[in-house]
Amino acid sequence: MLIFLIEKAKHLSNNWSPIISLQLDLISSIEQLFFFFAAFNIFGKSVETFTGLFIYFLLMLDKSYHISKNFRSKWGKKLLSWYSIHKRDLPWRKKENQNFYRIWISEVMLQQTQVKTVIPYYKKFLKKWPNLESFNKASLNEILQQWQGLGYYQRAKNLFLAKEYLKNNKLFLDPTSLKKIPGIGDYISCSIPAILNDYSCGVVDGNIKRVIKRSFDIDENRKDFNKLVGKIAEELTPKENNRDYCQSLMDLANIICKAKLPECSLCPIKDECRSFVNKIEFKKIKSRKKKYKYGVSFIVKFQEEFLIEQNKKKLLQGLYTFPMTDLLEKKKNQSKKNLFKSLIENWKVEKNLLFDHKDLCFVEHTFSHFYLKLLIVKIELSSKMKFRDLMWIKEKKFDVKPKSILVKKVRERI
Ligand code: SF4
Repeated sequence: MLIFLIEKAKHLSNNWSPIISLQLDLISSIEQLFFFFAAFNIFGKSVETFTGLFIYFLLMLDKSYHISKNFRSKWGKKLLSWYSIHKRDLPWRKKENQNFYRIWISEVMLQQTQVKTVIPYYKKFLKKWPNLESFNKASLNEILQQWQGLGYYQRAKNLFLAKEYLKNNKLFLDPTSLKKIPGIGDYISCSIPAILNDYSCGVVDGNIKRVIKRSFDIDENRKDFNKLVGKIAEELTPKENNRDYCQSLMDLANIICKAKLPECSLCPIKDECRSFVNKIEFKKIKSRKKKYKYGVSFIVKFQEEFLIEQNKKKLLQGLYTFPMTDLLEKKKNQSKKNLFKSLIENWKVEKNLLFDHKDLCFVEHTFSHFYLKLLIVKIELSSKMKFRDLMWIKEKKFDVKPKSILVKKVRERI
């Protein structure tokens, strides 16, 4: 037992001396005093009390995620010195873009979207609306038009709602006030004041979460996982220069501590990382096999006009599209032909449009979670009928409406 304890202590002190020092600081907490007295009463001998405390101490240490001052300062210094050399040159980091509006747009665009995809959209967006005053005049349609192809269209809708909110409410750059703005949650409410005003708050997005999870070897299945990561992030955050600190974590997560496979040998905080020190093996994450979905899009024409609708579904919300069925997976033993047939018939009955149709072609498209095979079907009408939720539009007018890449592909094929 004694040998085990000595070995365990040696291992922990080799790897975690900064954390041990904090544990010793904490011996004065009420919990530990209680333990001390209880152990003393039970054993009555100092040597047994010491052993009890030692075991308790080791158990606490193994589970503990407290950060000592010393650890925090080493962690921060290493990250900042790495950042001073490897900092990414990104448009939203340029001096002229250091204001609320421009940082806000970049942070919204970067949610769920890769940097290289965002850059051209960000530049285009700022060219059209260089500041909040000009953006205030934008309509939802115009914003959606600029957003075409960037995905997650709810973000564009939230930008519209947010600028309407800001017309009537004064802007304060602190997390609590920022969270009242539509579309701004925990992450952006903290990243904006940190980047702009060096505000000290724990910035945590999905990427930073990954770095903390690995560095502290936290089990993702813990019920309190998000809370714990947030607490550690908060404790690690420096009182000064959070501007560079939070961006250094963002860069580290993107350049080195990558989702698929981290490059630990190049990592500036590898000596502080439990996963690295404990030689935890990272298996290359295989990309999840995407499912196939099927749907039908209808080109319903009367002379030079066709029917369109404004999408209400979450996937392409707010964008204009040709009428489309639900996108479904194929059931076991169901042929694609039968699936398309039932989709067409159900839609025609629902719209009371029981005319002959003609199959035109297939369009394939990849969404982030699935592949889509879309059958394009044409129906020519001899008179102009009215439909609930659908509108008639001339081809030229449709071209200036905001639409998704998928609808653009369909448009090119007809
Ligand atoms: S050592 Fe590896 S796992 Fe740990 S933070 Fe660095 S890159 Fe990530």
